[in-house]
Amino acid sequence: MNFKDYVADVPNFPSEGVTFRDISPLMADGKAYHAATMEIVKYAKDLGVDMVCCPEARGFLVGCPVADELGVGFAPARKAGKLPRETVSVSYDLEYGQDTLYMHKDAIKPGQKVLVADDLMATGGTVRATIDLVEKLGGIVVGTAFLIELKDLNGRDKIKDYDMFTLMDY
Ligand code: 5GP
Repeated sequence: MNFKDYVADVPNFPSEGVTFRDISPLMADGKAYHAATMEIVKYAKDLGVDMVCCPEARGFLVGCPVADELGVGFAPARKAGKLPRETVSVSYDLEYGQDTLYMHKDAIKPGQKVLVADDLMATGGTVRATIDLVEKLGGIVVGTAFLIELKDLNGRDKIKDYDMFTLMDY
């Protein structure tokens, strides 16, 4: 299956000069969505994963079906004001300014092996913050997985100590 056939390239979104890789056509096609999920499952199944952890919101679209197929739990990393109980947080740099991700303090148990996944890696800031959250909670990141890697942005440099799987690159 050519997964890129299910990615819509949207010029000048969200700002002039940026091409947004829209994965909603992939999600809209049950066979393609399942096949993409199974590629990540195939990658993860020998890693001994206990939990899948993903940043909101598109990360959930990738990580939840993978967790379900692996038969393991799912831990969300969320933006400010979303989680109702005690949290840990990690801030990270954006092109302009900063953002912060949060996880519930008990979302990962110390020593659990975690797959960190997202729909797309650009600068790597989001996945780096998610990894840092998992490690703050005592989790062990055994792999990372993305549907898409934007290679020119060198996000890989931020997570070079971790194993990584990508389905498509641009
Ligand atoms: P990073 O932190 O690596 O620079 O950006 C990655 C995050 O931004 C991911 O959570 C991803 O959902 C979102 N993102 C940035 N650009 C795109 C894009 O072109 N397409 C999609 N689907 N997500 C993007």
